[in-house]
Amino acid sequence: MTDILAKPVPVASPETAEYWSGAKRHELLIQHCSSCGHHQFYPRVLCTACSGRMLTWVRASGRGTIRSYTVVRRPVSEAYAPDVPYVVALVALAEGPSMMSRIVAIDPEAVRIGLAVEVTFQDWTDAVSVPVFRAAG
Ligand SMILES: [Zn+2]
Repeated sequence: MTDILAKPVPVASPETAEYWSGAKRHELLIQHCSSCGHHQFYPRVLCTACSGRMLTWVRASGRGTIRSYTVVRRPVSEAYAPDVPYVVALVALAEGPSMMSRIVAIDPEAVRIGLAVEVTFQDWTDAVSVPVFRAAG
């Protein structure tokens, strides 16, 4: 697991602390605007639809589809060398927002735009878990 530990580990900010707390519990949290009903990711101070400040955290279904992806074949550093080839994708969540993540537990050649996926979590450290996606079961 030393390769995992050598990778940059996310650091929570005031805007993202709740998101990372949810991820640690293996819950995918996104923001919901109480004023207009908009869901958004990544975390922000204002609603991107109405500029309102009445944002709450809700648990996303964890389901989505692949909007776009790439297969990484050349590691960006030695820490990622054991991982290649791997898939980085833009996942359109069922609630609307898109998020960039890894697609795991699938042959990279089998990944397609439109593929239905579901969230799962990788525990990178005792304090940080990261959402990734796998083909929906
Ligand atoms: Zn809004």
